[in-house]
Amino acid sequence: MKIVVLKFGGTSVGTIKKIKKVTEIIASYKKKKYNVIVVSSAMSGVTNELIKKSVEISTNFSESEYDVLVSSGEQMSCSLIAGRLIDRGYKSRSWLSWQIPIITNGVHKNSRINKVNRNKILKYLKEGGIPIITGFQGINNNNRITTIGRGGSDASAIMIAKFFKAEKCIIYTDVEGIYTTDPNKLIKAKKIKVISYEEMLEMASLGAKVMQPVSIQDARLNRIDIEVRSSFVKKSGTIITKRSNIINNKIVTGISTTQNDSKVSLIGVKDKPGVAASIFKPLSKNSINVDMVVQNISANGKETDLTFTIKTEDLNKTKKILKENSNINFRKLLLKKDVSKISIIGVGMITTPGVTFRMFQALANKRINIQVISTSEIKISVLIDNKDTKKALIALHKEFRLDGNK
Ligand code: ASP
Ligand code: MG
Repeated sequence: MKIVVLKFGGTSVGTIKKIKKVTEIIASYKKKKYNVIVVSSAMSGVTNELIKKSVEISTNFSESEYDVLVSSGEQMSCSLIAGRLIDRGYKSRSWLSWQIPIITNGVHKNSRINKVNRNKILKYLKEGGIPIITGFQGINNNNRITTIGRGGSDASAIMIAKFFKAEKCIIYTDVEGIYTTDPNKLIKAKKIKVISYEEMLEMASLGAKVMQPVSIQDARLNRIDIEVRSSFVKKSGTIITKRSNIINNKIVTGISTTQNDSKVSLIGVKDKPGVAASIFKPLSKNSINVDMVVQNISANGKETDLTFTIKTEDLNKTKKILKENSNINFRKLLLKKDVSKISIIGVGMITTPGVTFRMFQALANKRINIQVISTSEIKISVLIDNKDTKKALIALHKEFRLDGNK
């Protein structure tokens, strides 16, 4: 059975006019003889409104009721899509997660899809129907409604594609695909044709706006190819797939940047076991996300310096924790706001020597000072001053030939 899963995000179904447009896309696949399974998110803004209501009723709103409430936006959009298709002469109906059912594990508000029952949907497809399935929601073993985290309808689509062995899983959204860097920051940003799951996960600041990271992990684990494309313009999008499917002549696939980072340096901390743990434990307990971490080698064998980055919104809290916690000892605390992390990402760098040098040289040519460096197999990140970000982005985008025509 030739099955395609089409997922529509909140902006794609944001107005009645847009829903009508979406049903034309659905119909076009039907005409191509696909069995179409549709997964939809709530109309944009609806989930946020529902969450607001829950807080107004109670600041300690029951988590199981939260799931019932906030998942209701998907019921509305699915029924509107189905209603329009019926109006156009198609056989269609909405399917709420409990009617299928889609079984989830884990806690309310943040469950994971474990199983999607195939029987009823397959039967419905065989009868020529177009099922419109609610994203974001499921039921648990006690038959209670669950949700799978904000932006979760991406993961719903991917798990549905997995259980129905779909030939394609297409994520329709409000951008044309994944770009080499944020097009709002650099006009020269280009749409990427193919990207690996791993690169997509690393491009957090770019990719995560387009797709929920958990869903990319699900796709990676289950080897589901995804296409991300726009509901509004008829152009091919970006394919997210496994590395071995990619024939690429590029070393770097994309460049991501962060904003509102701060740098914290502890000068003269004791160089002995357990010190780093005692610094980072209270930070993690307070949900402060630590990003880049570097520790100098200790010149005298007794003391060392430790530097890490956090989000600027956490700076005051971090300062307080470091100063007031008697387990943390240092000679001096240096804090610096307005730094930004710029990362080059690409599986091509695994097999290409000299990438680090090229990055550093390109930055040096622009007189940009590098404050912290961190690397992984497919990513090199440097910390620089905020004011240099744009310059660095232009230089690196050019250096790694992302500007050019594809
Ligand atoms: N409607 C849900 C949300 O806003 C799920 C989704 O959009 O994917 O988080
Ligand atoms: Mg989304």
